[in-house]
Amino acid sequence: MYRWIDDSVREIAEKARDRSLCAHCLGRTVAKAGSGMTNEERGLELADMLGMDLASPCGLCNDVFRHVPRFATAVADAILMVESDNFLVGCRVDPDISDREKAMWEEVGGELAEPIKSELNREIGKAALPLIDRAVEFKSPQVVAVLDTRFASVELDIAPVFIRGRYLKLSREIPQTVWPCRGCRGKGCPRCNNTGKMYSHSVQEEIGNPALDMLDAKEHLFHGMGREDVDALMLGTGRPFIIELREPRLREIDLDELDRRVNCSELVQVQDLRLAQRSEVSAIKEATPSKTYRAIVTTEGKVNKERVNEVAKSLTKLHIDQRTPSRVSHRRADLVRKREIVSVEVEDVTEEGFTILLETESGTYVKEFVSGDEGRTVPSFAGELGIPCRVETLDVIAIND
Ligand SMILES: [Zn+2]
Ligand SMILES: [Zn+2]
Repeated sequence: MYRWIDDSVREIAEKARDRSLCAHCLGRTVAKAGSGMTNEERGLELADMLGMDLASPCGLCNDVFRHVPRFATAVADAILMVESDNFLVGCRVDPDISDREKAMWEEVGGELAEPIKSELNREIGKAALPLIDRAVEFKSPQVVAVLDTRFASVELDIAPVFIRGRYLKLSREIPQTVWPCRGCRGKGCPRCNNTGKMYSHSVQEEIGNPALDMLDAKEHLFHGMGREDVDALMLGTGRPFIIELREPRLREIDLDELDRRVNCSELVQVQDLRLAQRSEVSAIKEATPSKTYRAIVTTEGKVNKERVNEVAKSLTKLHIDQRTPSRVSHRRADLVRKREIVSVEVEDVTEEGFTILLETESGTYVKEFVSGDEGRTVPSFAGELGIPCRVETLDVIAIND
C-alpha cells in the first residue's frame, strides 16, 4: 500500500523497531527513500505498515521536534532584529543526540539515513519562513541564525557590508588606518591618552565611523589600493578603497548621506561611493597601478634650471635599481628591486630647490629615488644632478588604476 517501502526500507525499519523512536527519527533512518514527503510522514507510514509503536519521549531525540515552533519563533525574533533581504537557518544539536544517532546507524544501517541536524535545519526554517517574510538564501545569506537546540538560544552571523569609493587625504598628520599605540598595543596608556592609538584620527575612522553609525555595525576594516605615508597628502581623484562594516544591524545605507557626513571632515574627503562585493577586496589589495606624485625637493646648493630639466628628461622611461631603503629595512627584506620611472616633469625651480611631477611604477620608493638613499637607489635624481637632494613634501596626485 505504501509503494516507497521496499525490502531494503523494511529491513532497516525492522532493525529499528525496538529503539523507541518518534515518527521523525524512524522516518529519518530511511530519508533517502520516497520523495515529496517529510520524515515524519515516512515514520507514520512505516509504523502503520509494519505495525510498530511510535515512542514518546523518543529514545533518540527526546522529542526535540516538538519544540520546532518555539525554535522557529526564537529564530524569527532574532532575525527580525536586523535588516536583511534573505536569511538562512542553521542549528547546533546536542552532541549526545548526534552520538546516539551515529551509534544507531552502525547497527541498523545508515545508507538511507539523514542526519538529525539537517532535518532540524529544514523544519525550523520551514516554520520560521512565514514569521520572517524574507527569502531563504543558501549560497550567500546576509544573515544566518544558528539555533542551539539545548537552550533554544540563537546566535546571528551577519554578513558584512562593503562600501567602495575613492578618498582624498588632506592632512600630513594622519595615517590611512588606525595605528595602535606602541606602548600599550591598543589597550590604553598614559602615552596615548588612553586612546590606544598613535594618532587620534585616520582615514579609516573618518570614513568608517559615520558608516558604522549609519549601519549600526560593530567594527570597520579598511582595505586600500596601497597607502601613502602619514606625512603625504592624497590628492587628485583619490585612492580607491573599500570599507568593510562588520555585523551591521542595518543594511540599507544612503550613500549620499554618508558622502555628506564624511565630507564634513577637514582631514578626509570621499567620492564615487557605491556598495561593493566581498570579492572586490582582494582585487583592490592586489592591484598595482602606477602612481603620480608631486615632490617638493630642496637641494644643498644652488641648482641650474636647465640642468634640472636635463636630468628630469634623462630619468624618464628608465628602470632604476632600488635596494630596500634604510628607513624600512627593519620590517622589509633587504632586496634590490627594479622599478620603472614612467615620467619626470619639472614644475618649478627656485633658489632652494625644485618641484617635480613623477609617475612611477607601483612599489617605487620615491623619496629614495630623489635622494639616492646613499647609493642604494641607482640612478637617482641627486646622483645625476651631482648635489644632495631631499624630498620636503610628497603628495600623491593620481592612482592610475
Ligand atoms: Zn525522535
Ligand atoms: Zn597606549
